Amino acid sequence: MSDRRGREWEEMVADRAIVETENLVKIYGDGTKVRALDGVSVRVSEGEFLSVMGPSGSGKSTLLNMIGALDRPTSGRALVNGQDLASVKDLDRFRARTVGFVFQLHNLIPTLNARENVEVPMVGQLGRGERHDRAEHLLELVGLEDRMDHLPNQLSGGQRQRVAVARALANEPALVLADEPTGDLDSETGAEIIELMQHLNEDLSTTFIVVTHDPAVARQASRILVMRDGKMVEEHRVGTPFEEDLAEFRRSGLGEAILERREIDFLESMAREKREALRSLLEQV
Ligand code: ADP
Ligand code: MG
Repeated sequence: MSDRRGREWEEMVADRAIVETENLVKIYGDGTKVRALDGVSVRVSEGEFLSVMGPSGSGKSTLLNMIGALDRPTSGRALVNGQDLASVKDLDRFRARTVGFVFQLHNLIPTLNARENVEVPMVGQLGRGERHDRAEHLLELVGLEDRMDHLPNQLSGGQRQRVAVARALANEPALVLADEPTGDLDSETGAEIIELMQHLNEDLSTTFIVVTHDPAVARQASRILVMRDGKMVEEHRVGTPFEEDLAEFRRSGLGEAILERREIDFLESMAREKREALRSLLEQV
């Protein structure tokens, strides 16, 4: 890793945690008990784009529900945006201000148009005029400036999910929780929704936690957590595409030759400084 990248990395890991769970346990049912979460401790840094994978029933939605304060854990602790959820008095208010939700099925209100749907979470937070302007701004942000007055059934699946994303951002949440947001879309439209979320993550510095079954979707994240039987069982850091390309090049015959300073035809034609620059780059990946 170069000095610059090294510093960026240090800054990143030194970042504030937006979510921190300690040994979260959630047990459902009275008779036959289901241990939906079995001791989950995760830390999510502010501004991260995290994806959570794992088979059906592994506890992904339960975890999002705990983080989003939609439900309470049986034991363990969840801190979100510096607040211990167990001590939050007004959970509705907390949710409205801190968390935006996107679900597999968009859950738009069928009788309200796109703009009105985006305004819903702002009711009670902002006045009418401000709500109106902000909803329009958000719909522009998700590329629906020409669909403001359309009802949900006049929109495509991908467009409806864009409205849902705009609605999730209504109150400038620190955190967006998306539970299989592409599950109901074809793969191309799903990829567009994820790309949109990534842009929003970069532009607004909003943290995203996205549950998905789709490895192609998960790979778009900077980190992937895998759950099984209520536990976090794997963690993968996804390199930037450039780093991955370099890593692949490093493993190739040519990459090895450069690293070992072996003399081969291709390298002889390359200026010495260039060869050394390439070598030091490869040494860093
Ligand atoms: P995932 O989202 O990974 O598919 P869930 O978090 O929805 O998994 O569910 C985890 C486990 O908890 C499953 O065995 C599921 O049947 C159970 N479960 C989820 N919600 C409830 C509930 N409200 N009541 C009882 N059991 C539940
Ligand atoms: Mg689920």
